[in-house]
Amino acid sequence: MRATVMHSAGDVRIEDLADAKLVDSTDALIHVTRACICGSDLWPYKNMEPTDGGRPMGHEAIGVVEEIGAEVNTVKCGDLVVMPFAFSDGTCLFCEDGLQTECIHGGFFGSSEVGGAQAEALRIPQADGTLYALPAEADEALMPALLTLSDVLGTGHHAAVVAGVEPGKKVAVVGDGAVGLCGVIAAKRLGAEQIVILGRHPERTDLAREFGATDVVSERGEEAVERVRELTDGFGADSVLECVGLDQSTRTAIEIARPGGAVGRVGVPQGEPMPGGQTSFYGNVTIGGGPAPVRAYIDELLPDILDGTIEPGRVFDRTVDLDGVPDGYRAMDEREALKVMVQP
Ligand SMILES: [Zn+2]
Repeated sequence: MRATVMHSAGDVRIEDLADAKLVDSTDALIHVTRACICGSDLWPYKNMEPTDGGRPMGHEAIGVVEEIGAEVNTVKCGDLVVMPFAFSDGTCLFCEDGLQTECIHGGFFGSSEVGGAQAEALRIPQADGTLYALPAEADEALMPALLTLSDVLGTGHHAAVVAGVEPGKKVAVVGDGAVGLCGVIAAKRLGAEQIVILGRHPERTDLAREFGATDVVSERGEEAVERVRELTDGFGADSVLECVGLDQSTRTAIEIARPGGAVGRVGVPQGEPMPGGQTSFYGNVTIGGGPAPVRAYIDELLPDILDGTIEPGRVFDRTVDLDGVPDGYRAMDEREALKVMVQP
């Protein structure tokens, strides 16, 4: 089968790999109908050291179940399913708590052990807990929106939940990538009164406004902090969604939280020590977040996609086939594309 493999920074290839197949009795095999490139795929695209054999890429997909193991009960062959970026058994103590990304039998797609979703097919471990079968009304026009349930929509929603977004709250979203834009959708959905997006790409911040952002701050660093405070009666935002993961963006997120506010971090951190320790301590700012348990959020978010209340599929601005994937990485890395969908 054909699949995407990253060999080192900037070196993404489409290769013929051994066909994906069932390994454990709890596995399913899906034929991938939609996948995409993630902002987090750009970190290895910038920094990855050369490896033997490379790393299969992709952790977001919609597909059709082609084969199931003997112990799989909740999905059947022919089902159209969403695959969250992490697999999970759905039954352990953390899954029971709705924290599937901490599943004791879980893990992440896009590795040599499990394989990647930017491919013709993929093995899904723990299929019962992982896969979510889509209802019949999930038609073709909704595929881009449904694909965001795999990662970016659930991730933006997680940031909003962790940051305590509620009706009437003042919210700031750091980052105008697909996750930040979905964070705006989530904040609006949860009733935020004010949504400030921090970003500097006009076509993205324009989309953020359409999604519900009330203010745009294009400054960075100290200037951005000042600007957000001006917009939020001088004290900062109740809830801040950190959707980038860099030191500077994390520091800014903490500094624009008002005393007693909260920061939800979903940008994959690129540094070890977390910036802003003094600011968060003296501001009594709560900091939380991590890999979003997007599997837990599908039940809540899917109906709003099906009835058109939210349109997260608008974050995709380019579609490629597998051969177009390497150029899709380039286009996202150069900020020429916001998010690239893959139709294998
Ligand atoms: Zn679990």
